[in-house]
Amino acid sequence: MDIPQKLDLLGSGAQADLACGSCGEGQKRVRDDIGRWIYPAVRPDGKLIRMLKVLQTNACENDCFYCATRRAREQPRTTFQPDELARTFDQIHRANLAEAIFLSSGVAGGGTRTMERMIATADLIRHKYAFRGYLHLKLMPGAETAAIERALQLADRVSVNLEAPSSEHLAKLSSTKRYTEELLAPLCIARKLIANDPKLRNKTMTTQFVVGAADETDREIAARTAQLYRDLRLARIYYSAFQPIENTPLDGRAPTPLIRENRLYQTDFLFRQYGFTFDELIFDGRGNLPTEADPKTIWAIHHPEFFPIELNRASREELLRVPGLGPISVRRIVQMRRTTKFRAIEQLARVGADEKRAAPFVLLDGRVPTRQLVLF
Ligand code: SF4
Repeated sequence: MDIPQKLDLLGSGAQADLACGSCGEGQKRVRDDIGRWIYPAVRPDGKLIRMLKVLQTNACENDCFYCATRRAREQPRTTFQPDELARTFDQIHRANLAEAIFLSSGVAGGGTRTMERMIATADLIRHKYAFRGYLHLKLMPGAETAAIERALQLADRVSVNLEAPSSEHLAKLSSTKRYTEELLAPLCIARKLIANDPKLRNKTMTTQFVVGAADETDREIAARTAQLYRDLRLARIYYSAFQPIENTPLDGRAPTPLIRENRLYQTDFLFRQYGFTFDELIFDGRGNLPTEADPKTIWAIHHPEFFPIELNRASREELLRVPGLGPISVRRIVQMRRTTKFRAIEQLARVGADEKRAAPFVLLDGRVPTRQLVLF
């Protein structure tokens, strides 16, 4: 296989991974021959970048039931040698097609051997080709401390895809991967290394869940999410609604509706940017997030004792609980209140808030805002 053929196969193999922060199948994706697997992605500082997503190899000894790369599935397999992949990325970078790389891999020859090849690639990219840009390395199942430490030295961000909220759920997705020992342990080791070495303190970690493939509930995913943010300080968690892939054991399973993925992302935002805790979330009788409204609106409807709040006097934390107000609009409200008063609900539109959704939950100096009210 020549390099463009390998890039095609190994870029295609990496496309489903969201833990790198890529924006998926956006229209900004580069479509020429060499850049087919370059994605717009969001760097930790919020900057939009172009990222090559690629596997070191698509050979894999694991059998994840949802995965196109699983060992028993017939498809062409290939491997990039470290110098091939490092040189290829250098050419892509010098051609100004991408300024970042996300490197993952199938597991071939064990997690340790696989990580050695990925680290060799990253080492060449950093030192032979003097790449100073954004590098994200996937940690392989069962990665050992020395490999994780080296990965953290070379990469800006590392990730392990947990895929499921518990070992019982992972057992429904794979007969070969072990949740605690192989997936959670590398994240715990990376957290300790980052905490104890000042040179690593800017390094961050992410993970991803496949949603709806293991009969897990939103409550179980949200509980694990809250614990990961709290105990392991993950920078981001990504959610991928299960979509069946032909010739895999789960190809007869119905796809997960995207609304479920969407509600989990909204919950994730509540944890990270709105000060919500897991205990405050409201689930339906089956343990899932209600689909008829976003989780913050559901919380507001269930807490009439909290509302209405005074738009001109409420604290930032109180304002963040109001449906239709987000962190940016709340910051602008607090700034604006230093020089002016909110006298009409329509003024909220000027700070980027959704005034129709906010209106039922606020007062304007004791007055109920007058306007057609829309809850959802
Ligand atoms: S470890 Fe599992 S998810 Fe990763 S490539 Fe192999 S089969 Fe796919």
